Amino acid sequence: MSNKIWINGKYFDKLDAKVSVYDHGFLYGDGVFEGIRIYSGKVFKHKEHIDRLYESAKAIALTIPMSPPEMMQVVENAVAENKKVDGYIRLVVSRGAGNLGIDPRRCEPVVIVIVDDISLYPAELYESGLEVITSSYIRNHPNATNPRVKSLNYLNNVLAKIEATRAGCLEAIMLNHKGEVAECTADNLFIVKNGVLKTPPPDAGILEGVTRNFVIDLAEKAGIPFKEATLTRHDVYIADEMFLTGTGAEVIAVTKVDERVLGTGKQGPITKRLRELFTAGVRA
Ligand code: PMP
Repeated sequence: MSNKIWINGKYFDKLDAKVSVYDHGFLYGDGVFEGIRIYSGKVFKHKEHIDRLYESAKAIALTIPMSPPEMMQVVENAVAENKKVDGYIRLVVSRGAGNLGIDPRRCEPVVIVIVDDISLYPAELYESGLEVITSSYIRNHPNATNPRVKSLNYLNNVLAKIEATRAGCLEAIMLNHKGEVAECTADNLFIVKNGVLKTPPPDAGILEGVTRNFVIDLAEKAGIPFKEATLTRHDVYIADEMFLTGTGAEVIAVTKVDERVLGTGKQGPITKRLRELFTAGVRA
């Protein structure tokens, strides 16, 4: 069955779902988005994603032409229209079509809801763990577009991803402008050292992941010691365990960083525990 894609109030088949070449999302990466999972017919952490979308839009002075509850209804309807039980939603709000200058004042925002599937890494790596490198591309300085904005401009992350795949890895750690560890190209990063779970704080130049926050909740409920902490590459190299979280990635172990084997070189016990709690939790 072809996907039914919602654009500004109408459904289109995948091949007919199009935006203008004058759209500033296309021309300038001017817009915001969310990636959201559907588990067992329910939109996972729906409100959290919609809140982040509206916060990203506010930060880039983009007025979304509907209220958050209306947006949630549009998303629910699109999931039903596509009869999706397990899948992935890509919600995009572009600045819309204007003229060829960057001034957005003539643009009319375009809202797009794509309901489809996603798989970021091969299934076997969820058992064996990923190997990653540290990218030479950093996350944006907070006074450039803040990394907390989930904008349509992912070029730094794309370049980090290219760097990773050229090095034979599927993922890359991105540092912030101070040289501290921020996150990976589309995932947040956690380490475990001496039984303590750690992840960089939101002001480390990360996107504050919905999955990150869910995993922190799971860890706290399970009594796993946790703290937000500034991390350097050294902390990562000497970690006992490391894993990544994200809507697309879910929870996946990292067993090698810049050719250093972490801990035992296998998925660690706390990672395993959190993966199990995650898998059960998303369908609870
Ligand atoms: N960081 C970046 C840069 C991302 O693109 C994503 C994916 N949205 C994440 C972290 C993880 O966020 P979430 O758990 O909300 O998907």
